[in-house]
Amino acid sequence: MWSTIKKTLEQWRGIVITVPPMVALTIAGSVAGLFQMGEMRAFDYFISRRPEESSSSRIVIVTIDEPDLHNYNFPIPDHQLAQAIEIIKKQQPRVIGLDIYRDMPVEPGTEELSKVFRETNNLIGIEKATDQFTAKSVNPPHSMPADRVAISNIVVDPDGKVRRALLSIERENGDIQLGIATELALIYLAQDNIFPETVKADNSSSIIQLGKTQITPFRSDDGGYVNADNGGYQILLNYRGGEDKFPTVSFTDVLEGKLPRDWAKNRIVLIGSKAESLNDKFYTPYNNKDLFGNNPIIMAGVFIHANMANQLLDAALEGRPLIRVVAEPLETLWVIFWGLVGASISWLFFEQKSLNFNVALLGNLLIVSIILPSGILVGISYLAFVQGWWIPVFTPFIALTLSALALPSYKNYELKRIACLDGLTQIANRRHFDQYYEQVWERLKAAQQPLSVILCDIDYFKFYNDQYGHQAGDRCLQQVAQTLAKAVRSTDFVARYGGEEFIIVLPSTDGETAYKIGQRICSQVRSLQIPHSKSRVSHIVTLSCGVATLIPDTVSSSGILIATADSALYEAKEKGRNGVVLK
Ligand code: GH3
Ligand code: MG
Ligand code: MG
Repeated sequence: MWSTIKKTLEQWRGIVITVPPMVALTIAGSVAGLFQMGEMRAFDYFISRRPEESSSSRIVIVTIDEPDLHNYNFPIPDHQLAQAIEIIKKQQPRVIGLDIYRDMPVEPGTEELSKVFRETNNLIGIEKATDQFTAKSVNPPHSMPADRVAISNIVVDPDGKVRRALLSIERENGDIQLGIATELALIYLAQDNIFPETVKADNSSSIIQLGKTQITPFRSDDGGYVNADNGGYQILLNYRGGEDKFPTVSFTDVLEGKLPRDWAKNRIVLIGSKAESLNDKFYTPYNNKDLFGNNPIIMAGVFIHANMANQLLDAALEGRPLIRVVAEPLETLWVIFWGLVGASISWLFFEQKSLNFNVALLGNLLIVSIILPSGILVGISYLAFVQGWWIPVFTPFIALTLSALALPSYKNYELKRIACLDGLTQIANRRHFDQYYEQVWERLKAAQQPLSVILCDIDYFKFYNDQYGHQAGDRCLQQVAQTLAKAVRSTDFVARYGGEEFIIVLPSTDGETAYKIGQRICSQVRSLQIPHSKSRVSHIVTLSCGVATLIPDTVSSSGILIATADSALYEAKEKGRNGVVLK
């Protein structure tokens, strides 16, 4: 059982090693907010590319545009406003929302408008809550009863776009004040006998049942947000669409009696400005000219409120999904999953192909292990989004990309490492030794410090093989090699030099010290106590060592030191083996 796990881990080693750090890196970046903008862009992209919905049948808008201001002046006098409301009232709308600040009288007609304000029980006005939401609001309409005044605040993201709806705020004294859209929607729904019910109440996160939908408040790390301001009771704004999704009539047409028959009947009527000069406009996820959100077309505040009210009505009456997010741990799993996907495809890809790294291979790798799965990632996320689930796209894309790219880098590193290792003994091979030796020679020549080498050869190893077999010989070589590797300092270098010969390079080490190290090595190999009945010097495996030392200079070649060590080894053999000779 354990061995199969170990074997599998060994097989998938590249993935086991590359994915965790890449995913950790991604998650760290995500927590730091690096990918927030990327996630927002994906959100905008999805919102504006969802299947189109039909126009709202429940909300209509009376717009005040430049020609209206031209006709009636700005601000529109109280008289005209009163008249327009009276005309709309006659069509019996369920509720009228006046999305215009009217805190000051604008004569003529103030008395008339005050009367309309007082007597129209289904007319809602607006005021603006100050930034912290807790203090008093400003600009309440004159002579409108306080219980018919809602707040008009719109929550704007750091990039200037509106993606959330502020349903209500809580005052310092505990009073809840609704936003204009919430107020209008609740009055509308009350006539269908639908009322909000608190399902779960705790301080900040009460869940509310409203008809067919359940409303959960926005938390500051929901979806792609990192540490967003979640003051008041907010939800993500599930737009119905742009300004064209709401039937409109101009203010002038209302006053001129051009209101279509039953246009307002049984509906929510919003009255608000869309005039450029009044500047009540916002950036939204819609109508981005490109993926990067340049040149977005802006939406008048009254259409944003209409979208917010529409979202509540559609959800409560038809169960149209609100935008939901998944729990944070699930998001993390999602990111890990895509990291694994990237690395796995990349890994399979490299198993298939020859391991020569070149541009064509890199191109294929990009397509197969990044672009293709990213397309699938975007596709899945989009389908989920259409169903009302906002799951991260950009963050898993980063995990996927990093993992897919890290795997070949790791493979490359592994290959280089393997190319330097001796397969049998797992210490450096001759090739690696040659490279290393030239470098260290030059280094010590520059530093004018002594360089020592020890050449070791197992005594009567041919007999060992004859006696115990070649496989036992291999095991013996492995044991000796590991002993040598452990016996020296980290700055020293041990390599397999030939069949049963090893070489140790000792930089900045004089002959005497090297000689002592040679003796220590011989003694450590003896303490392995590997039986060798056919040896003529001992009953166990022993080593002979030749030690040579010099300070590299410009006249001598690097080969001279090795040749000297070789002749010292020859002398050690001559002298009876199992010993060290320094030359
Ligand atoms: P000496 O004491 O003079 O060094 O005697 P020796 O027998 O060790 O010397 P010789 O160089 O004649 O023999 C070296 C032997 O090492 C011959 C070869 O079979 C064995 N050998 C070389 N490489 C390997 C290997 O990878 N595995 C095994 N099992 N044996 C090896
Ligand atoms: Mg030998
Ligand atoms: Mg030999």
